[in-house]
This record gives sequence, structure tokens and C-alpha cells, in this order.
Amino acid sequence: TSGEGEEKVYKVGIDTTYPPFEFEVEGEYTGIDIDIINAIAENQGIEIEFNPMDFGGIIPAMQANQLDVAIAGMSITDERKKVVDFSEPYFDAGLSLVVDKENTEITSIDDLKGKKVAVKKGTTGAEFAQEKAGEYGFEAVQFNDSPAMFQEVANGNADALIEDYPVIAYAIAQEDLGLQTVGERLNGDQYGIAVLKGENQDLLEKINKGLAELKEDGTYDEILKTYLGE
Ligand code: GLN
Repeated sequence: TSGEGEEKVYKVGIDTTYPPFEFEVEGEYTGIDIDIINAIAENQGIEIEFNPMDFGGIIPAMQANQLDVAIAGMSITDERKKVVDFSEPYFDAGLSLVVDKENTEITSIDDLKGKKVAVKKGTTGAEFAQEKAGEYGFEAVQFNDSPAMFQEVANGNADALIEDYPVIAYAIAQEDLGLQTVGERLNGDQYGIAVLKGENQDLLEKINKGLAELKEDGTYDEILKTYLGE
């Protein structure tokens, strides 16, 4: 028998700061990811607690059994599928190239020869930069979180950065970061909720069931509307 108070509390890894998906307002976590996982926890009757960390630390923390779940604007990739199982996709995203608002020299990835490009450790952006640096002749510099990366370009220490377009579009709309996106989107991908591969299959099933319910009953659309508008 499992009495009250014995219920498992699932540890959920989130990015430290990744609006509109996760951020802190007056000491409370908020954002699309936060609302989605809270709503799933509620409709599936599970307990969760948030563990904010640098994005690059999330998968290693899962592998070290310090986290049960990750929801962090995490793109579903074949590479990651080797170590985690993903839920059904819940958001379409992809990468954008970003430069200073005043920069007229860099209008696409073709203009990056000899340039310094800021990326965030462990992300698909960092991976993309690593793959393309040789071909396009730029240098990739790694940062732990998105604000540090934005700062680097705003300060003129780096010439460009690579970030998920929903994130950079939101950031630019919220405050004058002195940045702009340029060129075509660099790729397209989808976010998923991750659990450690081969374990937590029950949990993954609940997550998928919960997510489907949110999409069905309008909660999912409400959440997106809250942060992204109509
Ligand atoms: N979507 C990107 C990835 O999965 C970035 C995620 C993030 O920075 N939180 O790597």
C-alpha cells in the first residue's frame, strides 16, 4: 500500500533562463514549458519539482539520475534519442542567425567568414556551429546561457549568435536588446519532453497522455496564447 506522503516527486530539469519557455517572475517559474508540465502533472496526478540549470547540464544530469524529466525548449534530435526518450513533439522551432541591430555587413550565414559566433553549450545551435564553422570560416564561442550570449553580441565582443527563433523573437519583442535576426532560418526542428532512455516508460506514457489531453481540451492553445498572443 502506498500511503500519503510517499508519492514520488519527479525532478524536472529546466533551462535557467529561456523565455518564453522558462523564466522566473518574482521567484516563481513561469513560461510555456512550465505551464505545460504543470498541467500534465495535474491531469496525470503526479508530483513534480523544478531543477533549473544550464542547458548543457541537463542531459548529463539525467544520465547521472539527478533528473527524471527535462522540459527546456529541448529539440528532438537523433543524437539525443540515443540517451533519452522524447514525448510527442509539442512545439515547432529551429535556429536563427542573430546580429547587432546596426550590423549591415552580415545578412546571412554566407557573411560569417572570419567572424566570431556565440552559441550556447550543449544546444543544437552549438552543434550547428560546430558542423559549419569550417565550411563558412567562422569561430564558435560557447556560453552557458542565452542572456550571456545576447550580451556578447550586444557588446560587440561577438559578431553573431545562433538561437532558436521563437526565443530570440520573443526576447527582441520584449525588450530592446539591440539585436536583429538575419537571413533564412538555419533549420527546423521540434521540442519534446525527455525522460531517460529505457527507464521511466510509465512516466513517458503519462506525459504523452497528459499532453494529448491538453491539446484536446484547449489548455495547450491557452498556454501558447498567454505567452505568444494570438
Ligand atoms: N532547442 C535548442 C536545443 O535543444 C536550445 C534549447 C535551449 O537552449 N534551452 O538544443
